[in-house]
Amino acid sequence: MASQEIETLASALAKLPGLGPRSARRAVLWLVKRRETALLQVIEALVAVRDRLAECPTCGNVDTQSPCAICTDPRRDARSLCVVEDVADLWALDRAKLFTGRYHVLGGRLSALDGVRPEDLTIDRLLARVAQGGVDEVVLAMNATLEGQTTAHYLAERLEVYPVRITQLAHGLPVGGELDYLDEGTLAQALRARRPVG
Ligand SMILES: [Zn+2]
Repeated sequence: MASQEIETLASALAKLPGLGPRSARRAVLWLVKRRETALLQVIEALVAVRDRLAECPTCGNVDTQSPCAICTDPRRDARSLCVVEDVADLWALDRAKLFTGRYHVLGGRLSALDGVRPEDLTIDRLLARVAQGGVDEVVLAMNATLEGQTTAHYLAERLEVYPVRITQLAHGLPVGGELDYLDEGTLAQALRARRPVG
């Protein structure tokens, strides 16, 4: 039987994406054996994340400054807005270095299965940004999954009333493809060949 401390940490870690109870317990033991090295590094990194990182109130990106570096960068084109499901997708697209506009993070995708409704995402905040004016193009960069595409269609309908061009990533994306698993060349190609929705 493991100590209470091990159990508490293991059950906290088991909630992380991709980690189950078994691998969480193994990770805890691995860390305990490396108290002064790996464990210390993890603790310091977690504290730094807690103290310094925040969600950008404008776009939903996570950064050490608020609003984030992308929203405050005058060299980025505020007329072009790229909508992504998660921060990981934003980072993946930004690594591809082809999109020079700004972003909007939805915080997920619509899903009947998981009970994710429009009001659970930052859709109202997106519409408010577009309604403010100054945006010419909205790029819908959802994942090429069924739920991602359902979300893109829903957004396209909601955005129809605004005088903006609505485009989406070209379907060079593999079906079921999650953006942050794609290599930068594929992402750049999908972005370059983006096409109007409809
Ligand atoms: Zn931002």
